[in-house]
Amino acid sequence: MTEADVVIIGGSAAGPTAGISCRRRYPEKKVTLVRKEEKVLVPCGIPYIVGTVGSPEKNLIPDTLLSNNDIELVKGEVVAIDREKKLVSTDGGDVISYDKLVLATGSLPLELPIPGLDKENVFFVKKDVDYLQGMMGTLESVKDVVIIGGGFIGVEFADECRKHRHYEDCSVTIVELLPFCLELALDEEFCQEAEAVLTENGVKVLKNKKVEAVLGNNKVSGVKLASGEELKADVVIVGVGARPNTELASKAGLELGPTKAIKVDRYMRTLADDSVFACGDCAEKTSFFSGKLSRLMLASIATAEARIVGANLYGTCYHNCGAVGVFSTKIGERAFGCAGLSESAAIKDGLNIVTAKVAGPDRHPSSMPGATDVKLKLVFCKEKGLLVGGGASGGSSIGELMNVVGACIQHSVTAYDIALFQMGTHPALTASPIPYHLVNAAELAIKAMR
Ligand SMILES: Cc1cc2nc3c(=O)[nH]c(=O)nc-3n(C[C@H](O)[C@H](O)[C@H](O)COP(=O)(O)OP(=O)(O)OC[C@H]3O[C@@H](n4cnc5c(N)ncnc54)[C@H](O)[C@@H]3O)c2cc1C
Repeated sequence: MTEADVVIIGGSAAGPTAGISCRRRYPEKKVTLVRKEEKVLVPCGIPYIVGTVGSPEKNLIPDTLLSNNDIELVKGEVVAIDREKKLVSTDGGDVISYDKLVLATGSLPLELPIPGLDKENVFFVKKDVDYLQGMMGTLESVKDVVIIGGGFIGVEFADECRKHRHYEDCSVTIVELLPFCLELALDEEFCQEAEAVLTENGVKVLKNKKVEAVLGNNKVSGVKLASGEELKADVVIVGVGARPNTELASKAGLELGPTKAIKVDRYMRTLADDSVFACGDCAEKTSFFSGKLSRLMLASIATAEARIVGANLYGTCYHNCGAVGVFSTKIGERAFGCAGLSESAAIKDGLNIVTAKVAGPDRHPSSMPGATDVKLKLVFCKEKGLLVGGGASGGSSIGELMNVVGACIQHSVTAYDIALFQMGTHPALTASPIPYHLVNAAELAIKAMR
């Protein structure tokens, strides 16, 4: 048996972040992280192994992140937690005692009840190097790829399949149940723009379509849609979302909530046991806006929760304000992003809102190299001008623009505050200070609120 003060289970986004935060706050504590993989993938980088990055091996979280922060690494799957004796045991026979335990066991791909998903050449988006290597090998030799799910994972895979030179002669089709791809995150105009980029790049997008069955004998040969149509497929990639990985927590008697994630309080402590914390995709979330349960699973949320855990392990410092939901993606050369509530989500939540839309280049003058046209929409609550959401499309500047919008939402910034922001600008780096997107949109919203 080995001893540790803090044991963290999970080595992806949340686990190491909780360890590093703990190390910074409590330098005297012995921190051990247990993870089941030999090598850990950057989860958000998985679609890019297909083309841009080129292999799972080039998409890894380095172990030096742990060693540089004096976090001991144990490789093995935790198979049992004894909360009375405060011990965790791994499949390799390691037994580690803890004072505080952090569960960062993440999520697993959602499996739909579609017959035929067990056939050869059907792949789920698993965070597993060998599995994905196998998928890459298969993709090298196929003609027809069908992707079930037009959320950001499906869309990113489709785009990468088309971009990668080996797949130039193969067909890539997305089958999406909803009226638009990316609809759960973005407003319709951005979804339409994203779909147009996909189509231009050779991806076929089928919407309002439900996959009824995966066809073939042992190996997949096609998919059947509820409409009766059949699509030819040599490979099916299922990217329909994720579910919290909570079997271990359940076995240890920790309570799960209605979303089947581990129930935690606002300090990220499990309800059943003050010395056990949970963070990331395995932990239950509430919306920053409504306080209702949220199914958002993002690395940004996972790491923020992990920092709360790291700080709170030996003294309560932070509480979780809820999931804001900040996200961006890139399709072809066009980036799309959102923060907080889209206009349609705000309306669905019953908020009395005003929106403002602006467009213009992200350099000035627009003849500067790298200038890309940005479209930004901000959503404010009408009464006080509180910022509750934003969506955008444009170039690479969108990622950080959405982070600024997300930070403003999280800190209750209003249109009146944004209108007076003293933004740093430079011709080669930013939009012009005169029609600066964020400030301009705030001013337009103020005009509309009058
Ligand atoms: C393809 C893809 C693309 C994504 N892109 C983005 C993006 O662009 N931006 C964004 O914000 N989010 C993105 N996400 C979501 C993001 O990856 C997740 O929210 C994030 O990985 C959650 O981190 P986590 O540490 O909670 O869980 P996970 O990443 O699931 O990690 C869980 C860890 O726990 C380990 N573990 C589980 N059980 C045990 C056990 N019993 N014993 C030992 N170890 C165990 C696992 O092996 C793993 O190391 C993407 C997800 C996917 C799948």
